Amino acid sequence: LKTFKNITCTFCGALCDNIEVKVKDNKIEELKNACAISRKKYEHALKDRTSPMINGEESTYQEVIEKAAEILKNSKNPLIYGLSSTTAEAQKNAVKLAELSGANIDSTSSVCHGPGTMAKQLVGMITATLGEIKNRSDLMVFWGANPVEAHPNHSKRYTMLSEGLFKKNRSDREVIVFDVRKTPTAKMADQFIRVEPGKDFELLMALRLIIQGKKPETEAGKVAGLELAEIEAAAEKLKNARYGSIFYGMGLTMTGAKYMNTWAAMSLIRDLNNDHQRRFVMMPMRGHGNVAGSEITMAWQTGYPFAVNFSKAYPRYNPGEYTAVDLLANKEVDAAFIIASDPAGNLPKKAAAHLKDIPTIILDPHWNFTSDFADVVIPSALKGITASGTVYRMDHVPLHLRSFLEDEWPDDAAAVAQIGELIENA
Ligand code: SF4
Repeated sequence: LKTFKNITCTFCGALCDNIEVKVKDNKIEELKNACAISRKKYEHALKDRTSPMINGEESTYQEVIEKAAEILKNSKNPLIYGLSSTTAEAQKNAVKLAELSGANIDSTSSVCHGPGTMAKQLVGMITATLGEIKNRSDLMVFWGANPVEAHPNHSKRYTMLSEGLFKKNRSDREVIVFDVRKTPTAKMADQFIRVEPGKDFELLMALRLIIQGKKPETEAGKVAGLELAEIEAAAEKLKNARYGSIFYGMGLTMTGAKYMNTWAAMSLIRDLNNDHQRRFVMMPMRGHGNVAGSEITMAWQTGYPFAVNFSKAYPRYNPGEYTAVDLLANKEVDAAFIIASDPAGNLPKKAAAHLKDIPTIILDPHWNFTSDFADVVIPSALKGITASGTVYRMDHVPLHLRSFLEDEWPDDAAAVAQIGELIENA
């Protein structure tokens, strides 16, 4: 058995980089430090692999690359979408390809934490690394997020159960969960505050007013289904923290007032930081392994984090117009290149249906609902298993992926670059 230590798991945005893998005959024999999600994913990694296909017929790798280039070149308004489960190198090449083909380029961020990113553009976000939070945070708040189920190793490595420099264990930290239901994360908290569905904005604004020394208006003495006294007590806990951290999930970004929810949370953090004895930070609980990287790479390359259009040969940004769901649902795109994603399995029906009517190319190591009907299937190596590269953790710390198994297919970055070269040199 050959042992590989400190391997980075890419199956969620926590990007745990302490996985130990024992390998024999190009197969994973043993795993250490993997959570239930990653164990299942690693076990499945070499199964259901894709192979080169055009219109359901087996093909060669070179032929599928050439066919993909031909489709994108002949398209008047193509869409490049996905990107959150691939490397920064592939994301960078995808932006270049979008520029070469005058495409729209969007990541899955537009259907998860995109609204939070738009709020960040309005008001800014005070944040920190997970290491700093682990070492210093005495009050941890989870808002519309359930890491115990979605990011199982997160609490052990960075938050509630982690061993920090100054905050050593669970008893050194107070934990509050705001959510619409009592999740497993809420069960581990010191306090669970049940928010009336769709009323996060009202509650956040009430907290802001109390912290500013004002009295919020109530409806029959309540805001978001909570008695004013309960909200005042929560505000007091926030005020008494020395170093507070708020982790928020899609329960905040995708409900009710959407991006204004996150705007209100970011504004609350700003209010709390007006007292210089106190520090507060916040962070989205990112789902896909490199969804943070998709925003970082796209912003670095185009100036914008997602929903970018290159039809005029320079980048234009407009969520709601250049976001994949809108482009597909409005039937505005005439070809699609899906990179490391499964829109047929995840996007709203109306948007996914248009993919079946236009030439669709998919680049993915595994077979999924989109590959079932895609005109061109391009196989690829597995990020962090058979392919190396760079990924960004949810706190924007870049991590290098090391491969530890062999693969017959090149990685996403190479495939996208090859398609780009064919279009550039045509
Ligand atoms: Fe992988 Fe996420 Fe589990 Fe960490 S918490 S081992 S990154 S799936």
